[in-house]
Amino acid sequence: MNEILKLAQIGMTYVGRSGKRVNALNDVSLAVREDEFLTIIGPSGCGKSTLLKIFGKIVPATTGNIQFRCKTLTAPTSDIGICFQQPLLFPWHTVERNVLMPMEMLGRSIDKHRGEARDLIELVGLKGFEQSYPRELSGGMQQRVAIARALITDPPLLLMDEPFSALDAMTREELSLEILRIWQERKKTIIFVTHSIPEGVLLSDRLVIMATRPGRIDQIVDIDLPRPRTISMTSTPRFGHFSNLVRDRVQTLQRESK
Ligand code: ADP
Ligand code: MG
Repeated sequence: MNEILKLAQIGMTYVGRSGKRVNALNDVSLAVREDEFLTIIGPSGCGKSTLLKIFGKIVPATTGNIQFRCKTLTAPTSDIGICFQQPLLFPWHTVERNVLMPMEMLGRSIDKHRGEARDLIELVGLKGFEQSYPRELSGGMQQRVAIARALITDPPLLLMDEPFSALDAMTREELSLEILRIWQERKKTIIFVTHSIPEGVLLSDRLVIMATRPGRIDQIVDIDLPRPRTISMTSTPRFGHFSNLVRDRVQTLQRESK
């Protein structure tokens, strides 16, 4: 199996303004497979966001090495798309312009990429809203814009840090199924951080459980439920088995970290 991303012994220590050191990650090694849907779950503060920022080269790791397609990753790359918890759109730009923003930042001609932007806006279900402004959209629609924007460079790897946590349960369920559809249609590798155990089980090929203080990988669970995944699967015994297994472990880790 080909690996798209390979982490070897990643460690991360933040040094605060007062000189206080926080050991956020310790000895994280992980091989992410080409085209897989990998979810990361773990207690608050275990370093999930830090890990994603290290993958995206937004912050440098203190120790260790990351390889992207067998080459050491040294700088942010348009081969890795990122979606954060908040959509972080430019309020004074239209939906289309927001989606084109990464192209603009790469110094590419945005006119050449308008067609792609419109296709992506349609892909995320926002056809007709190309010329709308973020304030005219609901939270779920804004998050869809952020997803389209992360896809504009057609990155083989998409990082998503709790992208649906600010949304209501219905929108969240709808968007997670949409992400699955996009993942299948566009053949991407997705690394997805969530707080929701059912969401993690429903989406993933593998689910990484992280422990805290210091942040580290506790175990990796293979979710061998059939694909395509559907909401009705969430009521099957096999789905219940995985959810219980992950929940028990996360609860134990939470108790131990107190
Ligand atoms: P998670 O996303 O799992 O909740 P984070 O990656 O945000 O965890 O944080 C991991 C640890 O690193 C926490 O203890 C947090 O307080 C600390 N941390 C995160 N960002 C910074 C920062 N910029 N400066 C100092 N400490 C930080
Ligand atoms: Mg976080």
